[in-house]
Amino acid sequence: MSKYDYLVVGAGLYGAVLAYRLKQAGKKVLVIDKRSHVGGNLYCENIEGINVHKYGAHIFHTSNKEVWDFMNSFVEFNRYTNSPIANYKGKIYNLPFNMNTFYQLWGVKTPDEAKFVIENQRKESGITIPENLEEQAISLVGHDIYEILIKGYTEKQWGRKPSELPAFIIKRLPVRFIFDNNYFDDKYQGIPIGGYNQLFDCFLNGIDVKCDTDFFKNRDYFESLANKIVYTGKIDEFYNYKLGKLEYRSLRFESEILDMPNYQGNAVVNYTDLEVSYTRIIEHKHFEFGTQDKTVITKEFSLEADCNSEPYYPVNDKANEWLAQQYRSLSSKEENVLFGGRLAEYKYFNMDQIVYNVLYQNL
Ligand code: UDP
Repeated sequence: MSKYDYLVVGAGLYGAVLAYRLKQAGKKVLVIDKRSHVGGNLYCENIEGINVHKYGAHIFHTSNKEVWDFMNSFVEFNRYTNSPIANYKGKIYNLPFNMNTFYQLWGVKTPDEAKFVIENQRKESGITIPENLEEQAISLVGHDIYEILIKGYTEKQWGRKPSELPAFIIKRLPVRFIFDNNYFDDKYQGIPIGGYNQLFDCFLNGIDVKCDTDFFKNRDYFESLANKIVYTGKIDEFYNYKLGKLEYRSLRFESEILDMPNYQGNAVVNYTDLEVSYTRIIEHKHFEFGTQDKTVITKEFSLEADCNSEPYYPVNDKANEWLAQQYRSLSSKEENVLFGGRLAEYKYFNMDQIVYNVLYQNL
């Protein structure tokens, strides 16, 4: 007889919330993770009293009250509102694209004036039905914004020309004809007061967890431990890459402790020109309104993942989507394995979508 009802491979958001639900349902669960800590990419390291988002900035936002209440039942969230700014060749612009940005670019002061400029640029481009990210961006916000705020950033982020990427990536960003720098349209947003780690302590409380434990190093053994598996790793690795390798974008982080209280005056500054090799600088203390004497900043570089680098983003082009679909048709036939999360579904999820998916997963 198996010792556990479920083995959960990966202690990131999907794995940890699912493990929590399974425990609530009376199941015996073992969670393993190859890293030395739980929390997946939400993991924070405390440096100089500042919660440093070790695997990239995470801002929780959702319009789903059930998801928001679920998260808030474990930890209180602060009122952080994400308002990144863009630095293009030394000039500063507000994001997302809103009346402040339009004023900074064109000096326009009313929504009608801004719409007039964008409409003219859209007409000049001759685009009717946008077929890729470049066309979608130009038809949403015109040529100037595309050149200054989108083109270079997107090329650095994805390592591909915007004309080779699907339109939906840019639809994530709001376009507003009001003076409002809030990056998200969602009803609720914030950062857990005290950082993300305590959330995972709550999710995994009372559950057997083994870190530094790689499923693939001892697969037969781990499979024998439980009746069912929840797998949150790379879907192609699960199948030993037998249909081919999926591509992922990876990230490289360069962090520094600076002997000053405030380096850039904002948590997130995007560098949107191609000449600067990083995509953004994160100043972590601003996520929690920190008043420490020192500050920690992280430069974020985007690169193609290889076998030595962490996979972060699924690549949204046609070839990868086609291959992912082949793997998904294999995984959908598995009776004892549930695949969930960004890597196992090969999809670009926000955190709240992950929580929603787990809450609505049939167990
Ligand atoms: N984007 C851009 N300029 C920016 C910020 C974002 O062109 O200053 C585009 C880019 O293509 C990016 C997409 O919008 O991949 C989504 O950005 P988001 O900030 O949602 O990405 P994430 O924080 O999830 O990496």
